[in-house]
Amino acid sequence: MKKIDELSFEELEQATLEIGEPKFKSKQIFDWIHQKTVNSYDKMTNVGKKTKEELSKQYEFTKASIELKLESKIDETKKYVIMFEDGNVVESVYLKYKFGNTACISSQVGCKMGCHFCASTKNGYLRNLTAAEMLRQIYLIQEDTKEKISNVVIMGSGEPLDNYDNVLRFLSLINDERGQNISMRKITLSTCGIVPNIYKLADENIPITLAISLHAPTQEKREEILPIAKKYKLPDLMKSCDYYIKTTGRRLTFEYIMIKGFNDSLEDANMLSKLLKNMLANVNLIPCNYVREANIKPSGNLDVEKFKKLLTDNGINATVRRELGSDINAACGQLRNQFLKM
Ligand code: SAH
Repeated sequence: MKKIDELSFEELEQATLEIGEPKFKSKQIFDWIHQKTVNSYDKMTNVGKKTKEELSKQYEFTKASIELKLESKIDETKKYVIMFEDGNVVESVYLKYKFGNTACISSQVGCKMGCHFCASTKNGYLRNLTAAEMLRQIYLIQEDTKEKISNVVIMGSGEPLDNYDNVLRFLSLINDERGQNISMRKITLSTCGIVPNIYKLADENIPITLAISLHAPTQEKREEILPIAKKYKLPDLMKSCDYYIKTTGRRLTFEYIMIKGFNDSLEDANMLSKLLKNMLANVNLIPCNYVREANIKPSGNLDVEKFKKLLTDNGINATVRRELGSDINAACGQLRNQFLKM
């Protein structure tokens, strides 16, 4: 059956007209689904029984539930395992930053990209998430924490630009002023570099922040840890980034996980500086998380600081990502893997 919470406002209007109800009712229904975030027709108390009956003949709600929750004792980070109707699970995270309450959501169950350092891909790819399944992660976090989410990062499991249409539908729904009304400027999408879809996204004219998982300053090193780099080469990736900046006027973020003895030398920092010279960009340095299945170790704090200083001296904006919830931070995707073994 079709899902009611997948519909855009205009599609819901159409669905309401088709069951012979006036258009204005769709505004109330949309408000129940995406503003009050109810997950059943029963809870829509100001919508008539007949309307609900007619709609429920054709449309049902997307089901999702919190199966496991870990709460940090040192900060307010919470990690969730969320299960969907078919029994598949993903990870979502609640992070409390000074600039706002942030939800980190997944876009796929598993991932095809096979990045060597990433736990999300270790069990392979199962399926794309629908737009409503991405929304539900946020709605469930809000209901559980009783806090309004103001920022979203699509940095959980999955490659969002490999699930392009559903992600775009999600962005439009979460941004809808009749729903959660989260500004596009407060949404970050992170990609390992699916070049054709970076061009496509640039042309959508939506002011989200794009983050590129760069992780190495040369083609040779990049393809050692990111298999996708063999398909989309570094010079082509950089061209697509230039296009994104030129078209949207938005500053790009380059994520750079720091792996001990692999990409953390001062020579690497100099090559990275050359690559990003004069670009409207920030570098986000992330000491890599230990992943049991991968043989990698995080760079030492001193090496991270030296790397950052050299970038800054070379005129490149760089920050070190502050680690939150380190006591529950079974690195990216590891919580799901643990859950699957339970
Ligand atoms: N597929 C997208 C988004 C998901 S991953 C992407 O590749 O960008 C979100 C970020 O977490 C990426 O930058 C990814 O490279 C990073 N990441 C994955 N495994 C990690 C690890 N073990 N330590 C630190 N960061 C990791």
